[in-house]
Amino acid sequence: MNEAIVVLNAGSSSLKFSIYEVAGLGLLPLARGQVEGLVTSPHFKAKDQNGQSLADDSLVSTGGRIGHPEAFAHLADWALKHFGERLRTIAVGHRIVHGGTEFIGPTLITEKVLGKLEQLVPIMPLHQPHNLAGVRAAMQLRPDLTQVACFDTAFHRTKPKVAERFGLPDEMFREGVRRWGFHGLSYESISNQFRTLAPEIAAGRVVVAHLGNGASLCAMKDGQSVDTTMSFSALDGPPMGTRCGTLDPGVILFLLRQGWKVEQIEELLYRKSGLLGISQVSSDMRELQASREPLAAEAIEFFVYRIIREIGSLVAVLGGLDALVFTGGIGENSPAIREEVCYHLSWLGVNIDSSANARGTGRISSKSQAPAVWVIPTDEEKVIADHTLTVVRSFNEQLTAPNQVPVASVSASR
Ligand code: ADP
Repeated sequence: MNEAIVVLNAGSSSLKFSIYEVAGLGLLPLARGQVEGLVTSPHFKAKDQNGQSLADDSLVSTGGRIGHPEAFAHLADWALKHFGERLRTIAVGHRIVHGGTEFIGPTLITEKVLGKLEQLVPIMPLHQPHNLAGVRAAMQLRPDLTQVACFDTAFHRTKPKVAERFGLPDEMFREGVRRWGFHGLSYESISNQFRTLAPEIAAGRVVVAHLGNGASLCAMKDGQSVDTTMSFSALDGPPMGTRCGTLDPGVILFLLRQGWKVEQIEELLYRKSGLLGISQVSSDMRELQASREPLAAEAIEFFVYRIIREIGSLVAVLGGLDALVFTGGIGENSPAIREEVCYHLSWLGVNIDSSANARGTGRISSKSQAPAVWVIPTDEEKVIADHTLTVVRSFNEQLTAPNQVPVASVSASR
């Protein structure tokens, strides 16, 4: 029987998962999918490593609503039926959006750790509670398994203090009103891959553009975050599918004076703005690119404009640019957006090869050209699975080592 690691990413209406088989020192992807439409119209989908469908079923509840616990139970049942006795799950790795200042690496989850993560709910109310609901669901159904938390904020804890501040009173900084930064597991994936693909360039000044439904950019020196565009929440930075991006806080004051309620403002900023809000057509880049509506073109123009402004500012922080890396659904799949962004960066010496850009994998600038431009698919789940395996092994070593008491929190290096 082979060992397996399950990775969970629990959101407000979905439970995404990936399953990896432990193979020697590495991990083999076996399946990934999600239970989507939790509570309203739950549906289970799973695919194998080649994208072939393994399951595509509507879930019908016999006893009440289908939330995170029921979704995890369904996944466990399905995995048992599908893989049979061939696989034995040894651990679950969880994507947790916020680790605050304390959790700066992957962490073995105990009740005490969970309690500390719950204290971060007020500063991340839209994501953290759902992530933790996924942890509770897995812990309740499978208390025998090692549970590991991996944090989106952790990668950015290398940022200098000056890049962590807002221009607010210092006591607010100490209370947690600071520029945390997110998408950290994606940036860690790119940093790791880039170090393997082009170690000399990765050791320099790199801007990574993670452009998907959520979009942010990260300035890295020697593979470590020195600044990033998302800050206290996932709203800051370039506009996104439905999120506004950077906004003058005076706009919020204006809306409050106009009588808007907090929930209405939240709905506006998170779900009705960005590409959708400007275009009134769609939040989906493919649909905007196919649309003839003038506002769809304006939404794309604004998206690109804000990205190049952010890149300019991050290049200033880095003191130059050795490489630009595109990732995320748009960054990996849209030659047109990459071309447009790079065109506006020609003053920096950015120049891509059009046929390499059309292929869209690996280096898309010519070999001699500096700065280099790359497309690298992100794989956040693999980062979580790798960390989870490291934590499990380290915990097991402590258990078996003579005269050692296992500690509750095990950090793996990244
Ligand atoms: P999330 O932030 O939800 O993980 P993704 O990284 O999956 O989002 O990115 C989704 C975005 O990627 C959507 O706007 C989608 O239109 C865009 N996208 C995916 N494929 C293409 C493509 N071939 N051309 C342009 N945009 C694409």
